[in-house]
Amino acid sequence: PFPNVEGAHRVVAADLVSMEEGTGIVHMAPAFGAADLAVGRREGWPVFKPVGDDGTFTDAGPDFIRGLFVKDADPLIVDDLRARGILLREETYEHNYPFCWRCRTPLLYYARTSWYVRTTAVKDRLLQVNRSVNWFPENIRDGRFGNWLENNVDWALSRERYWGTPLPIWRCAAGHQTAIGSLRELGELAGRDVGDVDPHRPAIDAVTFACVDCGEVATRVPEVIDTWYDSGAMPFAQWGYHPELGRGEEEFARSFPADFISEAIDQTRGWFYTLMAEGVLHFDDTAYRNCVCLGHIMAADGRKMSKSLGNIFDPWEALDRQGADALRWFMITSGSPWSPRRIGHDALDEVLRRFLLTLWNVYSFFVTYANAEGFDPSSAAVPIADRPVLDRWLLSQLSRTVSTARDGLEAYDATGAGRAIDAFVADLSNWYVRRARRRFWDPSAQAGADASAAFHTLHACLVTVATLLAPFTPFVAEELWQNLAADREGRPGSVHLADYPLPDPSTVDADLDRAMAGARAIVALGRTIRAETKTKVRQPLSEAVVHYPGDHEAIGPLLDLVAEELNVKVVVFAESAERFGRWHAKPNFKRLGPRLGPRVKEVAAALAEDDGTLAAALASGASVALDTDSGRVDLSADEVDLTQEVLAGWGVASDAGVTVALDLEVTPELRQEGIARDIVRAVQEARRAAGLDVSDRIVLSVATTGAVAEALRAHAATITGETLAVELHDQVRLDAHTVEIDGTPVRVDVRRV
Ligand SMILES: [Zn+2]
Ligand SMILES: [Zn+2]
Repeated sequence: PFPNVEGAHRVVAADLVSMEEGTGIVHMAPAFGAADLAVGRREGWPVFKPVGDDGTFTDAGPDFIRGLFVKDADPLIVDDLRARGILLREETYEHNYPFCWRCRTPLLYYARTSWYVRTTAVKDRLLQVNRSVNWFPENIRDGRFGNWLENNVDWALSRERYWGTPLPIWRCAAGHQTAIGSLRELGELAGRDVGDVDPHRPAIDAVTFACVDCGEVATRVPEVIDTWYDSGAMPFAQWGYHPELGRGEEEFARSFPADFISEAIDQTRGWFYTLMAEGVLHFDDTAYRNCVCLGHIMAADGRKMSKSLGNIFDPWEALDRQGADALRWFMITSGSPWSPRRIGHDALDEVLRRFLLTLWNVYSFFVTYANAEGFDPSSAAVPIADRPVLDRWLLSQLSRTVSTARDGLEAYDATGAGRAIDAFVADLSNWYVRRARRRFWDPSAQAGADASAAFHTLHACLVTVATLLAPFTPFVAEELWQNLAADREGRPGSVHLADYPLPDPSTVDADLDRAMAGARAIVALGRTIRAETKTKVRQPLSEAVVHYPGDHEAIGPLLDLVAEELNVKVVVFAESAERFGRWHAKPNFKRLGPRLGPRVKEVAAALAEDDGTLAAALASGASVALDTDSGRVDLSADEVDLTQEVLAGWGVASDAGVTVALDLEVTPELRQEGIARDIVRAVQEARRAAGLDVSDRIVLSVATTGAVAEALRAHAATITGETLAVELHDQVRLDAHTVEIDGTPVRVDVRRV
């Protein structure tokens, strides 16, 4: 039907056609598809376009369809083929087709004339500049982004739209083109002041001038610029940068290239690219030195969020429920920023509970007792070197945390920085406040310098934590700062005006840190024994025996802390772990079988003869040499299964070379002490239930019988001292708080004095 189109009807090979779909033959029309055009260019085909911009056939089409919308012409074309006897078969089948994503109208693809930026001309420079950028994660540089640059194609710059930055090119009927650099230049050509003309459509299109080449009227071309160009123009456009007009040069010079940008990973083809392309095209330089690529946010179920799946996460709800700080802390610390992240309210609740409430509880503990004791942060502080070991350890941890947080942030590792702060807050709560609690509120009121040291230490830590947290959780950081530090001792009125903290290397004590880690390892093992033997922590025990391979002298001053935490009267060192009971070793057949074959039996026999010496050596992690009938065998600790015969009445636990044994025998005295502690706890609960202040004195009444009554009598002084009771009676009101201790009902009544 198109006899006038030279060379149009040919069969060529192309690898875009597959045998998996259809017949393996496709019809191609270079005017109606990018792939078709590419093959057409290669083969030298004409670009024949019988369809106009309105979607109807033009005069280039056959008579019977001219002026018809292409979809409406389909049946007529089929009829024509049938009438001419060349229709093989007519049928309807399903295939992919492009539709408008907004209104679902079927789309027609046309080849259009477009304006391009020849980015391929600077491809090598783009690759070179990219190598100077620090990418996070690093593999983006030569991977996702590097590949994108490597396969660079010219930038299709123009868009046939109404809204957008107008393409500043004017053209006359003869096709002469003039690129305009400013409204001033346009005004000079137009012979009038256009400074007040809106530089967008439609106003700008009304400005015409005489073509500089031929004098005919030149009008602006209809296209606007790809809005991605605007995104990449940010570094200079934000300053109105225009050297010819003497505008924005200083601001631009000061801020280009940017130190750091961050966006989601998909921007390698978007903003990351447009910034770099325009930076190189205009200034022959990168537009940014560091780039952090964030992963995408997924729904809590790990799928992409979508309305139809009903798994959309509403950030506003999170701001109301868990708050901006929880959301920020989650985003920063809960995983690598460049991995896809699942988000949901449960995860944010967890952040709130685990981190923010822990911090808040420490802060609130400090405020409660600082107010009760009238602590003045500007009072003279005990020199750090003279403070108790727990304070010195905490300040050493603080300095390390500051270093880690600073180093992390300097290296764009906000996750590492945040996690270090998180770990410090956990130490602050689970170890420092837990162990130092009594120094803030000593019922015997004899704490003195010790209490002052504790207040100053905790105050300094909370103020530093607030500053460390300022960029992470700005609201809670400011709340702490306002109450603890704002406008005091020359500090600024907002945490967000304070300098980021510097570490104090003079407070770092590596030996102490190591020893405290050892002490905490001992405590962890002691807690394990109590949990496994169901011996509650409030029940005092007589002795903990510890085999500790580290420096005994260094850990010595910390044993009181260990004893308090484990609630034992004394902690002593054992020279060897064997003291806790004889070790037995048996061959691990899975491990040794493949190596020794039938000789494993000889090893088993030799180990059965062992008096515990070999097994103990293996238990300490050493390798041993074994004499068997068929010769020497070397055994390592992971080739045997070890068990320990525990001494009757003891509980034992080991980890990483440290062994702890607790004497589990509860003597009548210890029993009574344990009951007394339970009574104290019941009274504290009653105080809280009655809404008393921590410093309120009370009249205490406890009614009970049997062993609990005996313990109450025996430990009355301790119980009243611990609970700030000025009197102790045994007559309680009918509505008194009732608890059970060891199966005995105990009724507790507290009244504020
Ligand atoms: Zn549409
Ligand atoms: Zn002209």
